[in-house]
Amino acid sequence: MAQQDDVFKKIVSHAKEYGFVFPSSEIYDGLSAVYDYGQNGVELKNNIKRYWWDAMTLLHENIVGIDSAIFMHPTIWKASGHVDAFNDPLIDNRDSKKRYRADVLIEEQIAKYDEKIEKEVVKARKRFGDSFDEAMFRQTNQRVAENVAKREALHNRFSEAMNANNLDELRQIILDEEIVCPVSGTRNWTEVRQFNLMFKTEMGSTADGAMTVYLRPETAQGIFVNYLNVQKTGRMRLPFGIAQIGKAFRNEIVARQFIFRMREFEQMEMQFFVRPGQEMEWFRYWKEWRLRWHKALGLGDDKYRYHDHEKLAHYANAATDIEFKMPFGFKEVEGIHSRTNFDLSQHEKFSGKNIKYFDPELKENFVPYVIETSIGVDRMFLSVLCSSYEEQALEGGDTRVVLHLPAALAPVKCAVMPLVKKDGLPDKAREIVNDLKFDFATHYDEKDSIGKRYRRQDAIGTPFCITVDHQTLEDNTVTLRERDSMEQTRVNVADLHRLIHDRVSLTSLLRKLS
Ligand code: ATP
Repeated sequence: MAQQDDVFKKIVSHAKEYGFVFPSSEIYDGLSAVYDYGQNGVELKNNIKRYWWDAMTLLHENIVGIDSAIFMHPTIWKASGHVDAFNDPLIDNRDSKKRYRADVLIEEQIAKYDEKIEKEVVKARKRFGDSFDEAMFRQTNQRVAENVAKREALHNRFSEAMNANNLDELRQIILDEEIVCPVSGTRNWTEVRQFNLMFKTEMGSTADGAMTVYLRPETAQGIFVNYLNVQKTGRMRLPFGIAQIGKAFRNEIVARQFIFRMREFEQMEMQFFVRPGQEMEWFRYWKEWRLRWHKALGLGDDKYRYHDHEKLAHYANAATDIEFKMPFGFKEVEGIHSRTNFDLSQHEKFSGKNIKYFDPELKENFVPYVIETSIGVDRMFLSVLCSSYEEQALEGGDTRVVLHLPAALAPVKCAVMPLVKKDGLPDKAREIVNDLKFDFATHYDEKDSIGKRYRRQDAIGTPFCITVDHQTLEDNTVTLRERDSMEQTRVNVADLHRLIHDRVSLTSLLRKLS
């Protein structure tokens, strides 16, 4: 674990050193859980967003996009349930004065039992080798059985308390499990209280009666309140979807783990409207399709898993998370929810407007059911960054830090370098840049030794380096160096465009999905 923490720290400092992510307001000592994206970060982020947007809107002819405002009428949040129920249970430790989410403390305790069980299994596997029968071992080993029983009991008690919103019981679980504050090491806990995560602000001057408005905690509601506008003006028929990318804001109680949990973040959400009764079929479709979208990036199929929800949000009748193996464990990156007709019905009720869909085939009016896919851009960014980072030992005792970013997401696609800064090589290199720059993000670099320049590009994940040398002037060939293998091939300048395009274009990624 300590080793994983180390790697994560290195990734965070690498992200800063190479212009991916900076702490917000750094010269004023930062602002907790708010981050800025630098020159390479913004490109990587834009490429992630483009991959999502194109996969949704180009590959599905029944999905269109919108861009709704962050500010919305405050009654929307009353109707959606956020004013009353968008809460997290918080608990304070009186000695350290640190604040925690009570549910997270208990979930971490459950994870500890899981770790203990896994440790026993790993130990036994080593001991018994090929003859190891894991299923049998899990059933018969006493220590494993004890921990499984404790875990199950805790899990059931926790689920019941969460479902019943029983805050006293959550506190009691923390006491009974003897969970200590990681900072003070004590069990001096306060009561558990509900804490609403929405940020409020005022719209209009106070003199003429300002209105309290909220910074949206999710982008979805902007889609719901526009669904009929889109349906009518786009002449859409069920099933159809509306996609949106935009900022969301949550006053998170515990903001940790870099850009994993931020107070200002970005979501990519798609609401898919279907006939009542067809929602489970579409839920299964989107659950499978979204995982395929992730896996097409090639970060490693074993890095993903589903986590089906037992405690469902007030609006859902099925929900699953796609979790990614971060350096700090499997964590949610995306949620897929069957939201029933809850949101649209609530908006009908609170607005007093009829927002039913008329189905021309069934000749019926009804409120559609909705499947939502909701993914955080920043968490996606983090998963790509973490799984791409490698400190690689090279022959001869050298090391390099390389980001094995999926080529289509890399901030810079190719760097063109004259071997030396003379003999007309810079001019030739510039000529190549001027040709490639219209289609690919291209860097020109002539400073330092060629080795150093390669390392700089490796560190930001540039898939290709093109080196111009004296031979180039004679036969119009260059060396094309590939980031991961470091292999160098001699290619004709005329072939560069095609060779690069084949590897870095988003199209090749999208083709895997259609
Ligand atoms: P968590 O349980 O981690 O708080 P959530 O279940 O509340 O997440 P959703 O409401 O389902 O999250 O939001 C959809 C997606 O938005 C999440 O899968 C995640 O990628 C992203 N997201 C949610 N909260 C944050 C945050 N504070 N910072 C960054 N991304 C977030």
